[in-house]
Amino acid sequence: MVDEKGILFILSGPSGVGKGTVRKKLFECTQDLMYSISMTTRDKRQGEVDGVDYFYKTREEFESLIEQNALLEYAEYVNNLYGTPREYVDNMLEAGHDVFLEIEVQGAMQVKENFQGGVFIFLIPPSLEELKNRIVNRGTESNDLVLNRLKEATNEIKMMDAYDYVVVNDDIDSAVDKIKSIIKSEHCKRERVAKQYKQLLEGEHDARTIN
Ligand code: 5GP
Repeated sequence: MVDEKGILFILSGPSGVGKGTVRKKLFECTQDLMYSISMTTRDKRQGEVDGVDYFYKTREEFESLIEQNALLEYAEYVNNLYGTPREYVDNMLEAGHDVFLEIEVQGAMQVKENFQGGVFIFLIPPSLEELKNRIVNRGTESNDLVLNRLKEATNEIKMMDAYDYVVVNDDIDSAVDKIKSIIKSEHCKRERVAKQYKQLLEGEHDARTIN
């Protein structure tokens, strides 16, 4: 098969739905995906590592990246900035690797506007009650922050319509399986496969004309 560009997958969903957990599990059992590590101005949580979980930046550093147009998308979320480094994503896709973003909905909508061909996956909790329990039980945040995150989450759920796929996170393994199926299906999409075949056929035609 002719080499093709990679596909950009965007996983989004309300805070506390388990995006991070699902993403980590997905990366444990896939070799072909490249994870784009985001930039953030938020404080490092216990156990997080700079350059693994995020690239931690000051607000000044982050604003300078915005000015340099170095971010594919960025958003302010619960008083912190989060963004995707443009160069990494472009380079990986160009080299034929699929790239995976795990971002909140405002950022996902920017990718949708500015980038052609992204595949948008929305992860939802089985119920709002369940979502609240997950945010509260994580226990890493104060009551005010929990309330803020829950409010943000309710608004985020309303954004589902803008996505190509919806995955219910009732069970991590099953959510991961569904995402893997989406990735496989996208590679089988007629438009993508047909484009490759046309290139192949044109190559054949050129070779015959030369001989
Ligand atoms: P957390 O602070 O819990 O790590 O992340 C808060 C929210 O920011 C999550 O919904 C997460 O998916 C999102 N997020 C992480 N990285 C990015 C990014 O690069 N861009 C955007 N727009 N959101 C991000």
